[in-house]
Amino acid sequence: MTNDEILNLRPTWLEIDLKAIQENAKKVMNHAGAKRLIAVVKANAYGHGVHAVAQALLDIGVTDFAVATVGEGVTLREQFPQENVTITLLGVQDVKQTPIMVAYQLAPAVATIAWLEEAMTQIKQGQQLPVQLAVDTGMGRMGAHSASSVKSLYDMIQSSEQLVLSGVFTHFATADDNNVAYYKKQVKNFYHWVEAANIPETYWHLANSGSAIWHHNEIDTNTIRVGSVLYGYNPGTPELTMPFKLSPVLSLKSKIGSVHCLETGESVSYGATYTAEKPQWVATLPIGYADGYLRRMSGMKVLVDGHIEHVIGRVTMDQIVITLDKMYPVGTVVTLIGQDGDQQITVEDVANYANSIPHEILTTLGLRLPRQY
Ligand SMILES: *Cc1c(COP(=O)(O)O)cnc(C)c1O
Repeated sequence: MTNDEILNLRPTWLEIDLKAIQENAKKVMNHAGAKRLIAVVKANAYGHGVHAVAQALLDIGVTDFAVATVGEGVTLREQFPQENVTITLLGVQDVKQTPIMVAYQLAPAVATIAWLEEAMTQIKQGQQLPVQLAVDTGMGRMGAHSASSVKSLYDMIQSSEQLVLSGVFTHFATADDNNVAYYKKQVKNFYHWVEAANIPETYWHLANSGSAIWHHNEIDTNTIRVGSVLYGYNPGTPELTMPFKLSPVLSLKSKIGSVHCLETGESVSYGATYTAEKPQWVATLPIGYADGYLRRMSGMKVLVDGHIEHVIGRVTMDQIVITLDKMYPVGTVVTLIGQDGDQQITVEDVANYANSIPHEILTTLGLRLPRQY
């Protein structure tokens, strides 16, 4: 059996609308006035399946991608061997992986002279490593952190025959909340430092989703580097509203596996935390926290036949129990994320309920769930 056939043996699945991802890419580019999009597809395209998502974006002309790890980069390069596709590695990389990054033409984010010197000892004559100069203007994770270190890195890259500059970027810590002062400080640092180093604008990319949505007038957005907005959710804190409507991308569905009636006083699941106060129909679904439906989701709403029901008792590793207003047949579809009739449960709703953010909910969705496109 293929992996997909194996995954489809259990009736719990994700539905992913690739057209919606394409629409969202176009919407955010229009909104921000961007000419070029670096699509962030790290962590399996935020849980959506990197292979299908990257292909859908390539189909509308996107040729620049960013991932987090060397392994993710290799996977993507095997999918897209063509030279015009660029692949950026956003995180700190082990310099010992330089030969792999050269072979697969992956452009790591670079932050120190020492790293570049060490990398250059591993690049053979006639080969080149593309690099992305990281500027730490306030995120505090990685990057050159002053005008002089930006300049010395840039000069070193420019003077080396083994290194090719792919871009220069910074990452914002507060683009998606109300801390405008901190944001402005980061913008100012970036402009001061890259201008002092004489790095041409064509190399710059600053905007993540929050910047592209709420700050496109304050920064250069010729090239934007976004993830969350592609996947159709508002990346901001709940008080920040979207200036345009995103197309919803992902649904999480399961089918009723069994139905039974609880008598008054009978309880459900570990810890017997839920007890029926009157006779009541309930159903068991084959999904649990091993699928990324977090233990904290106990009490959350789900949709059955277009109306709201609730998860009762503890979420277990592979199964949950939900309320029913009446008996439903085994096999009835239940929506845990997505639309059913007039009702909708968004990724944001799930994230709020779990006291988390959509990014975490999506990247936690288990590999045991088949992704249907
Ligand atoms: C993850 C990441 C992004 C994408 O952020 P979104 O808020 O999802 O758009 C952009 N840049 C860097 C450096 C990242 O690590």
